[in-house]
Amino acid sequence: MRAVVKIDEREGRAGTEVREVAVPEPGEGEVRMKVRATAICGSDRHIYHWDPTVRDMVVPPRIYGHEFCGEIDAVGRAPGRDDLREGAFASAEMHVTCGVCRQCRTGQGHVCRNTRIIGFHSDGAFAGYVIVPARNVVPLDPAVVPLEVGAFLDALGNAVHTVQDHELAGMTVAITGYGPIGAMAAAIAQHERAARIYVIDVSDRAIARAEKWREIKRADNVVVLRTGAEAAAAVEERILDETEGGVDLVLEMSGAESAVNQALGIARMGGAVSLLGIPTREAVTIHHFARDLIFKGLSLHAIIGRRIFSTWDRMLELLADGLDVRPLVSHEYEGLGKFIEGMEAFDAHEAMKVVFYPHGKNGNVEA
Ligand code: ZN
Repeated sequence: MRAVVKIDEREGRAGTEVREVAVPEPGEGEVRMKVRATAICGSDRHIYHWDPTVRDMVVPPRIYGHEFCGEIDAVGRAPGRDDLREGAFASAEMHVTCGVCRQCRTGQGHVCRNTRIIGFHSDGAFAGYVIVPARNVVPLDPAVVPLEVGAFLDALGNAVHTVQDHELAGMTVAITGYGPIGAMAAAIAQHERAARIYVIDVSDRAIARAEKWREIKRADNVVVLRTGAEAAAAVEERILDETEGGVDLVLEMSGAESAVNQALGIARMGGAVSLLGIPTREAVTIHHFARDLIFKGLSLHAIIGRRIFSTWDRMLELLADGLDVRPLVSHEYEGLGKFIEGMEAFDAHEAMKVVFYPHGKNGNVEA
């Protein structure tokens, strides 16, 4: 089969190769999935560039990729469940948890201390086939999940996780950072009938995308604001003014220090902030710790992964209810041959979701 392999520690296109590898065999408790659609995640970019943040998790040569959907191709011995049918449409949670640590045993498997990630610690989904634990397989209804959306349920799950604890109907919500996951969160907030949604970003390209989405959706309740060093104070003032003291919920998707501070600044007293963005540096300075955080009595919620499996359930309910995130797919490729081209478009922020169909969108490509 063809696969995208991080071949060695070289940065960029020199260290990644699309090559022929053997089709893997499922072991005990495992399932082989035929990968029908797979998407690039921000963390794949770190593997591509061999950033320090991933070096202790990935040992080349390694097939990467961890957002996908496909068909159950072969069920290994003793899968531990009897609902997996060969040929059935499915995705999988790619965080593999231990099941026995304190978090796993108390319903917090998404922060399992022994988490291993398929596509990091073992071979991933940028390939014709991928091996996953049978217990991680999530069967999908093809009438509810289009192929191109099934490609990025992992990322959509991150977005769902940021809002999962909140009843969004009637709420004021702000989203700092309109990248792919920010855009998914905005789509969810709109779908769930949030009263007003502020979309905030520093980049002209992101602002243009958000404006376009608002126009297509005819979403009069969406306010798109460009922030930045000079505009930040005015943005904050406007939101505090229009919302009578701040929004109910802020979803911080960027990881930028300025955005973290802005998120705290625009949350109302007693409001909530979900933090998903990962900063590039280790330290983040909170400029008004008492004023913006303590005195407001804010609730902060750090978001990692997807709750196993309640986030998946909520996500599939939203999709069944008509949540449409197909417009987020900006680039589609038949086969894996143009992986580097897709990665470079993603890397240059020209792309939102880049989806590959290893066997072709209609299943007619030799993989
Ligand atoms: Zn665990």
